[in-house]
Amino acid sequence: MLSCKHLVDNADRLIDGAELRPGQRFALRAHLMICRHCRRYLRQLRALTAHLNRRAPPPADDAQTHSVLQRLDPDQSPP
Ligand SMILES: [Zn+2]
Repeated sequence: MLSCKHLVDNADRLIDGAELRPGQRFALRAHLMICRHCRRYLRQLRALTAHLNRRAPPPADDAQTHSVLQRLDPDQSPP
């Protein structure tokens, strides 16, 4: 049977919906069915990820990125 460590190591892939081999996905789900500790861990990780995604600022556009880079190194000319 899959270990809790194996599930924890792959928890981010489960949450992100990343590609997993069918056998690996089945093993992770089977472990979750019998291990309440890992179910709780995954639930908390999902809540934390959702919270952080809500609080993350929108990505900077090219002009903002250029402005910050110019302030960090004014002598550097853009490519
Ligand atoms: Zn477990």
